[in-house]
Amino acid sequence: MELPYIINIQRYSIHDGDGIRTTVFFKGCGLSCIWCHNPESQNYDRDVMYSREKCSGCGKCIEICPHKAIHFEGELPVTDRNICEKCETCLDFCLNNARDIVGKQYSINELMKEIEKDRMFYEQSGGGVTLSGGEVMSQNIDYLLPLLKKLKKSGINVNIDTCGFAPSESFRAALPYVDTFLYDVKHLDSDVHKRFTGQGNELILSNLRMISDMGAKINIRIPVIEGVNADDKSISDIIEYLKNNINVFRVNLLPYHNTGSHKYEKLGLGYEDELLNVPCDERMEELRNAFTTNGFPDVKIGG
Ligand code: SF4
Ligand code: SF4
Repeated sequence: MELPYIINIQRYSIHDGDGIRTTVFFKGCGLSCIWCHNPESQNYDRDVMYSREKCSGCGKCIEICPHKAIHFEGELPVTDRNICEKCETCLDFCLNNARDIVGKQYSINELMKEIEKDRMFYEQSGGGVTLSGGEVMSQNIDYLLPLLKKLKKSGINVNIDTCGFAPSESFRAALPYVDTFLYDVKHLDSDVHKRFTGQGNELILSNLRMISDMGAKINIRIPVIEGVNADDKSISDIIEYLKNNINVFRVNLLPYHNTGSHKYEKLGLGYEDELLNVPCDERMEELRNAFTTNGFPDVKIGG
């Protein structure tokens, strides 16, 4: 079995569910949200990252690349991602550490070992592990299911942080081993959803409804973005949908921030931030009130 790639194992995380958690970021996602904070998590394969601020422009990487994947544009080396074979040769020759590869494979046992290291914190704080991404639910189910079973057996609380764009069978299979789903809802209009994420919302909403009907504990997470979904109509559509269809435990309203924008440059990608705006604190409070007055008992601003 091809093991999935993991970008990062983040310890002492306090924004990915209750208590202190270890968050495992899997690589690969079927959506490409234009506001994504982790663009390096979208591709299922490894990626070469390049830090312009560390680069002296010496050209060593261009000389050494066995696949001729790097060329100068002005004074800076640019990697052609269609040619790069991710052989990692250039990493060893860059004296400034301006080049890196994201994505590492862990066997289930290796990952369990990493997760087990923080067990004491989980027990003291009521935390656990959060499997995130990228999109964890779109990873190979032959890896994910045994991992979830092991976590359950070892008594570690499991959150799944998902955008919902993943096979329904994977949700069905995983559900008995998951304590809480942190489930993103971005927009109820499928065309708008597609414009900003690359995909319509039909599969996402049908998976959400399915796990709700199956009795899952669900925290809804809404990235609130001026220019996308912070307007009255978009929010009231989401409220109506959730009220009528989903058994919601908690709502997290996550104000948009653009701290991930520098990563787009590192990956050689463009960032369309002119379409996106940060909602002000007053607007976030208004939205929280809109949810509470509609009967949602636990509504938080932030993770
Ligand atoms: S070897 Fe490193 S410092 Fe030199 S040009 Fe390449 S990325 Fe920049
Ligand atoms: S990882 Fe290998 S193929 Fe890709 S740019 Fe570096 S040396 Fe070239």
